[in-house]
Amino acid sequence: MNKAEVISDTQRFDVEAVRRDFPILQERVNGHPLVYLDNAATTQKPQVMIDAISHYYLHDNSNVHRGAHALAERATEKFEGARSTVAEFLNAPSRELILWTRGTTEGINLVANSWGRTQLQPGDRILVSAMEHHSNIVPWQMVAEATGAVVEAIPVDETGTLDIGAFEQMLDTRVKMVSVGHVSNALGTVNAVDDIIGLAHRAGAKVLIDGAQAIGHWNVDVQALDCDFYVFSAHKLFGPTGLGVLYGKRELLEAMPPYQGGGEMIESVSFEGTTYNQLPYKFEAGTPDIAGAIGLAAAIDYLKGIDREAAAAHERALLTYAVEKALATPGIRLVGTAANKVSVLSFLVEGTHPNDLGMLMDQQGVAVRTGHHCAQPIMDQYGIPGTVRASFSFYNTFEEVDRLFEALEKARKFFE
Ligand SMILES: *Cc1c(COP(=O)(O)O)cnc(C)c1O
Repeated sequence: MNKAEVISDTQRFDVEAVRRDFPILQERVNGHPLVYLDNAATTQKPQVMIDAISHYYLHDNSNVHRGAHALAERATEKFEGARSTVAEFLNAPSRELILWTRGTTEGINLVANSWGRTQLQPGDRILVSAMEHHSNIVPWQMVAEATGAVVEAIPVDETGTLDIGAFEQMLDTRVKMVSVGHVSNALGTVNAVDDIIGLAHRAGAKVLIDGAQAIGHWNVDVQALDCDFYVFSAHKLFGPTGLGVLYGKRELLEAMPPYQGGGEMIESVSFEGTTYNQLPYKFEAGTPDIAGAIGLAAAIDYLKGIDREAAAAHERALLTYAVEKALATPGIRLVGTAANKVSVLSFLVEGTHPNDLGMLMDQQGVAVRTGHHCAQPIMDQYGIPGTVRASFSFYNTFEEVDRLFEALEKARKFFE
């Protein structure tokens, strides 16, 4: 496929119009127009999301739930409205099943601690995939240590595809939790979560899906997935840092003890005993990230205004174009070549170190990530210390992919 063919394939997506909504894309870096290809680390923010947060602090700022004055009411209304926006976005059956966290990491820690410590027995098994982000490994290792459960890795093959056959073989009645990424941040693999969830449920296990890398690329429906928990970070969905979402099935959340104690999560407190609040507040101790939630709702509203399928088609075309260029470039080794992948081009260049390449590309205004991408086990499996990772969002262009490869060529000259 050449560039013209790829472009005609995605003509219905007006990338230039979308780019105007993201002011940071106009930045110059080291004397060059910014080429931002680190979207798997965090996405950029549309002006409307930045404006929503400013507007909140300029006009509505107050603490929520407690106040009996006009600003408190406005802040509460917007904050709870944001929860409804997220519930609708995920097609959750109720807004009470949407819990605010600090991010994907905290969401997984919440489930590992609250669900895990009450449900896991010595000898119980927790399955994660070999390509997980550290945030979906370490909390399970910690709870395993505390409960006597064990964490095991579902094998991943050379292409970065999870071995479903091996997973099926691993399932037995001791498997209580299967926690896998919807999309791998290091490789871009889209996991067959429908199959994984179905198989796990048949074996009696619960399933947590780490949606950090999926949520920015397509609309997720938690009821259609039938997952038990779904977590993501606002900052990977064009929203602010410091905020995340945990969706859980009602019967599980109802049975789980609070994760932290403090304000808001209680119904009444006395030294004779404290009773806990209803969902979702039971899990939301302390003043929440009010501005963040309002910002996330604005980002979601923004996404509703664009054709997400066309955006996804554009992203696929960018990845296809980048892969073709990589295959045509001598000395490039692609890491992660699963049949079903999105957004991520992870690679090594013969005779160079990823970190040096990243630095030399940054000098040309091209922002990529280098290193192990918080996924050391899969890097170890491949016998490499890390990769260069270019990751795309819908506001990236074919010209930026060209700039990536031009920067790569220039950077390589330093190693000759
Ligand atoms: C980014 C990421 C995380 C961690 O998200 P935080 O926002 O740092 O909590 C976890 N899993 C995956 C797949 C990620 O991409």
